[in-house]
Amino acid sequence: MKITHIGAVLLEPVPWVLVKVRTDEGITGIGEAYHGAGVHQIVADWRLQRPLIGEDPRHVDKLFRDMMKSMSASGYYQGAVMSAISGIESALWDITGQMAGVPIWQLMGGKFRDRIRMYCDCHAGDEETAEAYAAKAMAVEELGFSAIKFDIDPLPSRRDRYNRAISNDDIAHYVEVVTAMRSSLDSNTDLAIDAHWAYAPVDILKVAHAFEELNLLWLEDPIPAENAEAMARVTTATSTPICTGENLYTRFGFRELLQNQGADIISPDLAKAGGLLEGRRIADLADMYYVPVAPHNIGSPIETVATCHVCAAVPNFLALEFHHQENPLWNELIVEGPLIVDGHIAVPDRPGLGVTLSEDVVRANVRENLGFLD
Ligand code: MG
Repeated sequence: MKITHIGAVLLEPVPWVLVKVRTDEGITGIGEAYHGAGVHQIVADWRLQRPLIGEDPRHVDKLFRDMMKSMSASGYYQGAVMSAISGIESALWDITGQMAGVPIWQLMGGKFRDRIRMYCDCHAGDEETAEAYAAKAMAVEELGFSAIKFDIDPLPSRRDRYNRAISNDDIAHYVEVVTAMRSSLDSNTDLAIDAHWAYAPVDILKVAHAFEELNLLWLEDPIPAENAEAMARVTTATSTPICTGENLYTRFGFRELLQNQGADIISPDLAKAGGLLEGRRIADLADMYYVPVAPHNIGSPIETVATCHVCAAVPNFLALEFHHQENPLWNELIVEGPLIVDGHIAVPDRPGLGVTLSEDVVRANVRENLGFLD
């Protein structure tokens, strides 16, 4: 069996990047890469494809390493190239599963669970009031989600966009909003809050301390992501659980964070961090510190289901992000129809990825086709 062709497509309005790998035996693999700028063009770049064409797609780890070295002798990519590699890697697992007649989770070591718990990312209330946030949280809980996330992004009244400071009035507003949501939800419905890297440790700790009695699932990205030592200081200083990791690449990107015990929960994005096997490795590294994994995911159902296979196969899975509750295209893209039932996705048992992409829906939402569609 040999790889004959690799194509990518950029969709719209959400710029999802889908990857297709064709073989000489008629089996096709589908994957998804994180949608950074230019990622679909990198998937289609001959320099990344060169080590793959003509090779057996089932040697996934070898091909992953060959791709890592395809454009640089150092073999350590991050950013858009790593996202492109992640999407191709995921498609190779789809092919391997189809050839072996088993779902991807079987290739990842078997499964710990049959359903993947999704958490719904809601961003904000319909208005910037505690009542509007609480109403939205309860409406999403009503849909069946047992974990919900909202953002505490800097308010328009912020005095300075660059110094990462929070005013006392803004802290009081965040506390009022989050307290209203927490007290409106069932005590067993988890609430997470995302701070989007916006704050300095000294400021976000005032917020994290105020949140301590609210028993949040986590406070995400309280400070910029690139300083693991500063993140560890925040994590150590508060009993509010700290979650981070969506901007880290490969297991090496998580090494310092985990060794410093710099987060209570990690949130790798498998469509950028290195793909499915690398996601499994990151989860195993975290499990050495008893750290749960809650993967970041703003992708289409292709990335979501691919990630579900890894979530099924690792012991320390906590919850998987769902970002598109108000985007009907998310459900239309898969032939099998709505995947999320009662806040969970049933882990597919069919070979490979186990769901079918609707090429008609892809065709109707193409921004740029680079060899994905005929
Ligand atoms: Mg986030």
